Amino acid sequence: MPDMTRRAVSVALPRNLLDTPYGPSAEAIRMKIAYRWIAAVIAIIFVVDLQLHLLARESLDQLGIQAAATLKVSSNVVLRRAEQLFDTYDRTLSGLSEVVGIRAGLTKLEIHRLLVRRHAITPDVHWLLVTRADGQLAATSLSFPAPDLNISHREYYTAQTDSWDAGLYIGPPLVDMRRARRFVPTSRRITNDGGLFLGVAVAAVDQAGLANILSAQALPEGYVLRLFLRGGAALACLPDSEDCYTRDWSKTPLFSGLLDRAAEGDFRGGALFGDESALGAYASSAKYPLVVTATVSESQVLAPWRQIARRYVAIGISSNLALILIAVFAYRQFQRRRKAVDALAEANIHLEERVAARTNELRLSEARARLFMNTATDAVVVCDQEKKIVEFNMAAEQMFGYSAGEALGRSLGFLLPEPEAIEDLPVNRATVADESPILQTRELKAQSKDGREFFIEATVGCTENAGPALFVCVIRDISDRKATEEEMRRLATTDALTGVLNRGAWTRRTEELIANARRYGRPLTLMSLDADKFKHINDTYGHPTGDLVLKALAKVLNVRAGDIVGRLGGEEFGITLPETDAEGAQEFARRLLGQIRQCRVSDGEHTLSFTVSIGLTSFDCAGDDSLEAALKRADRALYVAKERGRDQFVRLDGDCV
Ligand code: GH3
Ligand code: MG
Ligand code: MG
Repeated sequence: MPDMTRRAVSVALPRNLLDTPYGPSAEAIRMKIAYRWIAAVIAIIFVVDLQLHLLARESLDQLGIQAAATLKVSSNVVLRRAEQLFDTYDRTLSGLSEVVGIRAGLTKLEIHRLLVRRHAITPDVHWLLVTRADGQLAATSLSFPAPDLNISHREYYTAQTDSWDAGLYIGPPLVDMRRARRFVPTSRRITNDGGLFLGVAVAAVDQAGLANILSAQALPEGYVLRLFLRGGAALACLPDSEDCYTRDWSKTPLFSGLLDRAAEGDFRGGALFGDESALGAYASSAKYPLVVTATVSESQVLAPWRQIARRYVAIGISSNLALILIAVFAYRQFQRRRKAVDALAEANIHLEERVAARTNELRLSEARARLFMNTATDAVVVCDQEKKIVEFNMAAEQMFGYSAGEALGRSLGFLLPEPEAIEDLPVNRATVADESPILQTRELKAQSKDGREFFIEATVGCTENAGPALFVCVIRDISDRKATEEEMRRLATTDALTGVLNRGAWTRRTEELIANARRYGRPLTLMSLDADKFKHINDTYGHPTGDLVLKALAKVLNVRAGDIVGRLGGEEFGITLPETDAEGAQEFARRLLGQIRQCRVSDGEHTLSFTVSIGLTSFDCAGDDSLEAALKRADRALYVAKERGRDQFVRLDGDCV
């Protein structure tokens, strides 16, 4: 049991503090989304920065490649040009050597002239000279005779004596003291046909010529071109500087090993001269001991890149900032939208709850209304302004015999035997001025499905709350009430025993007839009638038999239509004969007496006959005759008839009998 509880608790606990037991809360979801946003922004920034870095890197590499290509090409071009130049000097010195060697008998003057001519056609040469085998100057292109000078100690001399096939010797630059200019000595061995060493031909090459080769490259500023001898002596430098010629280049990586490994190459860093921040290329000649180097400082090469890089960094930073701002803005917008959506959802929930509550209320109210409708003993018929039935409750079904299905949609008039009677119903709001929901109560005659007619009391109400006006007719079957009323009315005016009018009703009715007769000047006669010796009948046969006699008498009296028969009291009756003059009345009285004489009444035990006495008086319609006076006259006539022996009539008009 404890285990189960623990398990249940552990299941109910949210995995995360922000989670609900039913799943992640809205806050947890929002935080997750926020983390994703941050991750996405970082990823985008990373990608953008990487792209910028790669672009920068690529342009850097491009610059390096371009610079290396420039350096390589420049060093090769300069080397070719230098070779061509030294080819020129080689040809000059070779020509001189040949001429001087072959024509051994040339005088010093002839040699001098030869040198002068050669000097004239050879560019950038300070001087040309020829020595004898011992190093003594034989001739120069500058003066004749040649100075008494022995140059056997000079390297450009010894180089040719040390080797029989030294080719063109190119020496380290020397300074021409007279001209204060630097020159590069070149020399060639002079031999005769037999190969015997005769001397050396020397050309002092103006260093400016070599410098021109370098400057002809027209390299951008910062590029350094140098022409070296293989041993490391600088022949020409661009830019030119004293330091270039005095520095000991032989210890640099280029001369202390690199040249032995490859004739040419391009390098970064300190590969050539130990200068770490330099890019460089070199090319060495296979023909002459010449090496050309082209270098440039990395900072020089990278200067434009640095400028671009600065731009990239600026772009990077601004794009990062822009991204961050966009992300922050977008996130805030997102949050705002989410809040709005949440609020909307909450409002929706409230609305739905309210709608549900209202719907429930409505359903209850409808159920109540239907319950009320269907439990009402009165028929409830609702119709619209067109008088079309829209509701028909169960009581209405029972009352009219129509099912709701049969009644709905039909005009209210079909429930009435005279459909036009519906016009009396105020099913029209305009017919009522006040705002009372009950418009009118009316009694009408209705008709059921089987054709039975009956009285109804319809109370009509109107409602306009639910849009177009609806008329509610609460209909009550009042047939019983009507019958009761009729019966009461009848009882109030009828004599209970005989069924003829009682005295009051007879009097009222007679008054009406009198008024009518007077208005139109018509004759009218009153008859007062009394049973003869009735007491005797009662006494002889009993009171009930007397009643039977009275009933039988009333029946006989009540034969002529239009006559008003009333029981005035006891066994006395009054009969009003409208449109009847005295003669007519006498005739009627005579006939009546005969009929009564003939009448037999049986109480089951006895059969008896009876007679009546009648007093007649014509109403004086022209004079101021009254019912009261006329009745008195009739009673007097009756009295006379009694006096005269009964079973007869006596007429008394005015004062005469
Ligand atoms: P007369 O010929 O002079 O009229 O004599 P009579 O006996 O008819 O006259 P009287 O007025 O003395 O008697 C009337 C009798 O009628 C008295 C009364 O008992 C009787 N009577 C009155 N009303 C009723 C009634 O409703 N039923 C019966 N059975 N008898 C009635
Ligand atoms: Mg009487
Ligand atoms: Mg009597």
